[in-house]
Amino acid sequence: MSATVRFAPSPTGRLHAGNIRTALFNFLLGRKAGGSLVLRLDDTDKERSTEEFAESIREDLAWLGLDWTQEVRQSDRFALYRVAVERLKAGGRLYPAYETPDELELKRQLQLARGRPPVYDRAALKLTAEEKAKLEAEGRKPHWRFLLEPRDVVWDDLVRGRQHVDAASLSDPILVREDGTYLYTLPSVVDDIDLGITHVIRGEDHVANTAPQIQLFEALGAAPPAFGHHNLLVGPDGQALSKRERSNSISGLREEGIEPMAVASYAAIIGTSDPVAPHASLDALIEAFDFGKLSRAPARFDPHELRLLNARLLHALPYEAVAARLRALGASGGPAFWITVRGNLAVLGDARHWWRVVEGPLAPVIEEPALCRAAAELLPPEPWDGETWSIWSNAVKQATGAKGKALFQPLRLALTGEEHGPELKHLVPLIGRARAAARLNGKIA
Ligand code: GLU
Repeated sequence: MSATVRFAPSPTGRLHAGNIRTALFNFLLGRKAGGSLVLRLDDTDKERSTEEFAESIREDLAWLGLDWTQEVRQSDRFALYRVAVERLKAGGRLYPAYETPDELELKRQLQLARGRPPVYDRAALKLTAEEKAKLEAEGRKPHWRFLLEPRDVVWDDLVRGRQHVDAASLSDPILVREDGTYLYTLPSVVDDIDLGITHVIRGEDHVANTAPQIQLFEALGAAPPAFGHHNLLVGPDGQALSKRERSNSISGLREEGIEPMAVASYAAIIGTSDPVAPHASLDALIEAFDFGKLSRAPARFDPHELRLLNARLLHALPYEAVAARLRALGASGGPAFWITVRGNLAVLGDARHWWRVVEGPLAPVIEEPALCRAAAELLPPEPWDGETWSIWSNAVKQATGAKGKALFQPLRLALTGEEHGPELKHLVPLIGRARAAARLNGKIA
């Protein structure tokens, strides 16, 4: 089975973790099936769509490694939508309706008051040619509704299982507004047909669109694709994710220094039965990916949990995976440095701090001057290695009688300026004798 999938954001804002889950699921399904991913920019809303947002979407996808094979913009494709509109009109599936929003609201209220479902009553279908002409002479312009066939629509949702919707219980959806602009439904279906989309993977907020869309595929002479509607994200408080919160946006996470694979791993795992653990590569995620693992309950996106996952990912990264980025940070300490400090990093950029601790200049913190001076005297000659620290600290213990925290804490503070950090056993050989001696004597080095 080969799959052609699409990710279809509107370029009206930055992508957040919820959007990226949709992109990722499409990508993973596409890759697993050896297919391709189309980036479709749903920019029919010309007022709110901007090139800047389109570019930030491309940047975010590229940063995560979610490659796409083709990009299309709906604003380039109006000619196709017009053809579809004519075809639907010719087939009697698209009809003009003239009610104003206020009139529709009134009808709705009346239906509800009578205990009936607020389904559009199709009054417009009964209008005669004269009545229509009269309304238009009054200056009314029609919007256009898709005539649903009153039958059961069934699809096997890749996430939710078999779905049944009685189309008779739905309002005929408006496809074209009175100013001639399109609502999302028609362009989406026309594009899915034109681009040969085989699987539509999207959030479950679109479940309600699916039955009308399936009828629309059929009315346009196409077989509907497979559909999968994944659970949506909520924040730690159980509320829908705020788009305004910078820490939820992908670019915000990138600027914070979170690793792309931490974001991808987290986005793919939350809301599934898998334990939250980092995956080293997209290939590993492809391997683990299975819609069957997705829960029906909302997935909880907790930025704190993502940061912890990011740290776990870093702690396991081999030197080769980060060498170029360490050099770019000016932390050119080599594999020994990386292995020493990686367990203490929240984000890779923190390596810069530990490189300064190694290389200096660093202002030592001297809490026990006498102990530190004695320790400086006892520093063994170089070369230093993994044994140096225990030989030296034992000698200091013998000479001063200090032990445990009372010994190690003043030495750590003098050597690193910090109360916590990487194991001194590994750090001390990197700092080296000259700097260690100077720092123990209270000098910046
Ligand atoms: N632009 C739509 C959205 O972002 C696409 C929905 C779909 O995938 O069909 O919600």
